[in-house]
Amino acid sequence: MKLIFIGPQGSGKGTQAKIISKVLGIAHISTGDLIRNTEGDLKEEIDSYINKGNLIPDKLILKILSERLKKEDCKNGFILDGFPRNLKQAEDLNELVKIDKIIEIKISDEETVKRLSGRRNCNKCERIYNLKTSPKPKKDNMCDFCESILFQREDDYPEAIKKRLEIYHKETKPILKKYNTITIDGNPKIEKITKEILNKIK
Ligand code: AMP
Repeated sequence: MKLIFIGPQGSGKGTQAKIISKVLGIAHISTGDLIRNTEGDLKEEIDSYINKGNLIPDKLILKILSERLKKEDCKNGFILDGFPRNLKQAEDLNELVKIDKIIEIKISDEETVKRLSGRRNCNKCERIYNLKTSPKPKKDNMCDFCESILFQREDDYPEAIKKRLEIYHKETKPILKKYNTITIDGNPKIEKITKEILNKIK
């Protein structure tokens, strides 16, 4: 099964993609993670886009994604988390693969701001916490599992959040109008949303 999860930042699409990819035995491809883990010559250029909350150029992200899709773990299918982000990317993807379903996870802008500004990440074991929602770390700013210091992503600061939301409304949402989409409420508890998605994609 080949799925796309679309939603504003902080909607929980990454969390759901992680859980559901395991349930279905398919790959979870987060373009944000792919980009953040890029090393070498391109790193500085990429960081200059990410840190301000801007999208990286379509050509570059398409190249990174098409390489990833060639890997063995994509043979059974995959969930795309963070791609496509605009109509051009959606058209490019159409040329590459046939997608079965597009799932939109919906939350309000206020909820996005609340969730993103409270998000803290562990850069060692990559667990994600939230000071305002959940899971809250037991000790402020320390990972419960590996005790590393938590950090706040550069693009989770207010100016970048504003920019990312603007881009979501202007560039990403038009994809939902153009393609047949299943919409899921992103406000209930994680387990409830997972059930809802699994029901809808059956
Ligand atoms: P995310 O973790 O999905 O919020 O992505 C973090 C950042 O990576 C975004 O703000 C963009 O700078 C970049 N990025 C991720 N996916 C894409 C994409 N499909 N197209 C362009 N830039 C992207």
